[in-house]
Amino acid sequence: LELCTYVIAQGGMVAGAIYDDEMTIRHVLRERMEDCLAFAGSKYAQSSLGDIFSEIKETLKTGRLVLFSGTPCQIAGLRRYLKKSHPNLLTCDLVCHGVASPLAFEGYVKWLEGYQKKRIASICMKDKTHGWLNPQIRVEFSNGKELNGSDETQVWQRAYNSALYMRPSCYRCPYTSFQRTGDISLGDFWAVQNIKPDIFNPNGVSLVLLNTEMGKEVFSHIKGNFKTEPLSEKEAIQSSLSVPVKMPEGRSSVMNSLSSKGFMSHARSFRSSRATRYRTRLGRFIRMVASKLNSRNQ
Ligand SMILES: Cc1cc2nc3c(=O)[nH]c(=O)nc-3n(C[C@H](O)[C@H](O)[C@H](O)COP(=O)(O)OP(=O)(O)OC[C@H]3O[C@@H](n4cnc5c(N)ncnc54)[C@H](O)[C@@H]3O)c2cc1C
Repeated sequence: LELCTYVIAQGGMVAGAIYDDEMTIRHVLRERMEDCLAFAGSKYAQSSLGDIFSEIKETLKTGRLVLFSGTPCQIAGLRRYLKKSHPNLLTCDLVCHGVASPLAFEGYVKWLEGYQKKRIASICMKDKTHGWLNPQIRVEFSNGKELNGSDETQVWQRAYNSALYMRPSCYRCPYTSFQRTGDISLGDFWAVQNIKPDIFNPNGVSLVLLNTEMGKEVFSHIKGNFKTEPLSEKEAIQSSLSVPVKMPEGRSSVMNSLSSKGFMSHARSFRSSRATRYRTRLGRFIRMVASKLNSRNQ
């Protein structure tokens, strides 16, 4: 969002990923900061690009600055589409573990809505209530009900982490290296506790790679808004910067079943056992009663 603020202050436009009303992840081009707030938050499935490349091309022709933020492969696709370089195009890629199939994500949304008998109003894939190192999925429903880190919401985290639903190209991704497609790359500095424990923050520490002169120049304008610490490549390395995600065995039969039966038939396999669910609920209940008794005795 700091990059958005900078680009919009220059009279530019920003293309980023949002959830639309149907909870489909799609890229849109926006020029007002209040419309860019929806770009915040990683969305763990492939976004639909629609006509965004041609919209960007038309905007670039007017001379306005455009920021495109997306996966490294989307930026490579944009550059190929534009054919020539544009001095007014700024790109920001994500260190990326892979994007899941939109069909699987759509199935998760329908399954959760069916299970709760309510429409989903918003999803946050990385809620930090329990800290950055223990992110959970928070879902808000149309009647205001919220589920955070419940066994049902976590179904998508487990499905994504299983790597079964990644796009086929993710398993042979050529961008899992320090050769980036964007002017700037953003990621999570997961190894902070081992490498730079003094800068650890329970709310998270980002990894920022400045890959081009333009990236360095733009970052120099917003750098004052952050606490920064230089890092070597050796210190910054993580698996998404060195090897593509491994294709799990059985992926092709899972994908065949996804096409024929839908994700709903898969959801059960990403839930905890009934016994674990009861234990978790019981634990939560006991903690709630204990805290009520505690506050009464104080
Ligand atoms: C699918 C995916 C996999 C990732 N894997 C890793 C990883 O392995 N290691 C790591 O360090 N970091 C990974 N990240 C990046 C990380 O989660 C954060 O996005 C990054 O640290 C920037 O955080 P932020 O809070 O500054 O920005 P964020 O609020 O996370 O958003 C940055 C930008 O990401 C774009 N975006 C969000 N979701 C998508 C999407 N599905 N497709 C295209 N663009 C999207 C939005 O346009 C937004 O402007 C991944 C992100 C995604 C979306």
